[in-house]
Amino acid sequence: MTPFEYLTPRSVKEVYGGLKQYGSEGKLVAGGTALIIMMKQRLVRPVALISLRSVRGLDQISADDGGLKIGSLVTHRELETNALVKRRFPLLADTYRKVATIRIRNMATVGGGLAHGDPNQDPPPSLIALSATLKASSAEGSRVIPVEEFFKDYYETVLKPEELITEVNIPKQAAGSAGAFIKFLPRTADDYATVSAAVMVSLDKAKKVFQDVRIALGSAGVTPIRAIQAEAVLRGQPVKPEGLREAGEKAKGEVDPISDIRGSAGYKKEMVGVFVRRALEQALGELRKAARAVSKPKAKAKKSSTRRKGRK
Ligand SMILES: Cc1cc2nc3c(=O)[nH]c(=O)nc-3n(C[C@H](O)[C@H](O)[C@H](O)COP(=O)(O)OP(=O)(O)OC[C@H]3O[C@@H](n4cnc5c(N)ncnc54)[C@H](O)[C@@H]3O)c2cc1C
Repeated sequence: MTPFEYLTPRSVKEVYGGLKQYGSEGKLVAGGTALIIMMKQRLVRPVALISLRSVRGLDQISADDGGLKIGSLVTHRELETNALVKRRFPLLADTYRKVATIRIRNMATVGGGLAHGDPNQDPPPSLIALSATLKASSAEGSRVIPVEEFFKDYYETVLKPEELITEVNIPKQAAGSAGAFIKFLPRTADDYATVSAAVMVSLDKAKKVFQDVRIALGSAGVTPIRAIQAEAVLRGQPVKPEGLREAGEKAKGEVDPISDIRGSAGYKKEMVGVFVRRALEQALGELRKAARAVSKPKAKAKKSSTRRKGRK
């Protein structure tokens, strides 16, 4: 690596100072799992690293009106294991659990993962399916950006050089909704996906019609992609296997994958069709499981009250 200054600000305000002092010659570092590799490969040569690790208040997860507020320094491992996240947003815990290895997950942060802007990463599709937003802050103020609009091009985001991500917000989800994230890993269990798909679905009260559907894809283009046309195939329609297949076919037309060591563009496109269908099936399976869990205690209660009546 080329020599660099190392700054250790203790507050967000001090971070702004570092960003102002070094401009585009400075680079924020959080977990360092992506940036340090790029520095070793001399793809980036910052004059100064501004470490976020000692900045107070960015490593908290809190409940927020049925949703979640996640500080940008929260690690992947914390999201995977946190009880509140697992209970309220199992999709999120499951997605972060599928990133790389425990060693990486112990270091990698939510903010660093997003700012890195790699279209092969796992969390962005799930965050898009959950309608997440992020907060970008600078000395000039803060702005809220939907994760769906954050990625601009290959390893490029809409973040300005003077901004840092301070938090990610997950809104409350509709009652009776469930999600799924699946990634195809033909090489090793800790690899990046050949293709990944995240979905959130909610059904009507009778559990027969799709009320809302959000579908997002990873490794399927130069950015994570929301498959809007595939969603439209299902929204307001009855839950039928043909509909899931049709949504998968539609999603194939919304992606533009790149051929690489994990598969050709044509193969990835085909996999998108299959994975959208499978992710939808998995989310519907979660909803069925939840419905069974609710109806079982009800049936038990009914049985024991009948027994009590019988004894009288
Ligand atoms: C061996 C290996 C395997 C991997 N496998 C996977 C995988 O299977 N799935 C997957 O999703 N990912 C995978 N990754 C990528 C990993 O998820 C990222 O490296 C990680 O999320 C980056 O987070 P970080 O905190 O370490 O970021 P850093 O390396 O610290 O920073 C990354 C970039 O974000 C910027 N940055 C950091 N924090 C902020 C902030 N708060 N605001 C603004 N900019 C910021 C930095 O300046 C830098 O440009 C893998 C990485 C490695 C090394």
